[in-house]
Amino acid sequence: MTRLYYVLLAAFMAAPLPAQTSNKELLEELSLAYRILARTGVVDAYGHVTVRNPANPNHYFMQRNLPPALSTPADLVEYDLDSQPVDPKAPQGFIERYIHGEIYRARPDVMAVVHFHAPDVIPFGVTGVPLRPIYHMAGFLGVGVPVFDVRATGVTDMLIRNPELGKALARTLSDKPVALLRGHGAVAVAESLHVVVGRSYYTMMNARLQAEALRLNPNPNYLTDEEAKRTAAQDGFERPWTLWKAEAGQK
Ligand SMILES: [Zn+2]
Repeated sequence: MTRLYYVLLAAFMAAPLPAQTSNKELLEELSLAYRILARTGVVDAYGHVTVRNPANPNHYFMQRNLPPALSTPADLVEYDLDSQPVDPKAPQGFIERYIHGEIYRARPDVMAVVHFHAPDVIPFGVTGVPLRPIYHMAGFLGVGVPVFDVRATGVTDMLIRNPELGKALARTLSDKPVALLRGHGAVAVAESLHVVVGRSYYTMMNARLQAEALRLNPNPNYLTDEEAKRTAAQDGFERPWTLWKAEAGQK
């Protein structure tokens, strides 16, 4: 009896979790990421975060067309890399979802993407002043922050509303963690949801601090390349994630 119990237990433990069970936690975290980005001011009524499906790297999850602060797990939709919903009856999606699909296609290392319009980053996309790490929380910017100018593709409404524009943005991003979109916002990428949320928040804060420093002195004392490299890893932004999660009312 006891032996049979352990045999059954071992078989149960070895069995892979049903896809829905593993996705449930991921989708709860993604929905939480939407609400955290809204609470911290990285996104307002616009902006989005996605996560690649770990069970199928050719798919990603994104919220339906809804302000981020209102996100629930039931609002998340699965897309393929052409940014078409897996379920043809899925609710309407964000127009700019091609940002995410084309970055996932171009960057197999990327597991999560944020697109945001935080006002603080806008000046660095329109003045030629490069966004550079001004403090220790943004060392990841030390590898450089390219600027994507959608005007190079012709006259547009500024939105990344088709796969071609998504591909062009992914080419500008190249292997970097962050890129700016001229007159529009920014995109941040990372190997995890927690890191991409941290990078988005601290990109916004760095832009705010750098603009303030430039007002006091046109040549502020930036982090050196070596300092940026040493501070880039942080703690995977686990501490702020824990705080933000609690502030969002989650255990
Ligand atoms: Zn946008």
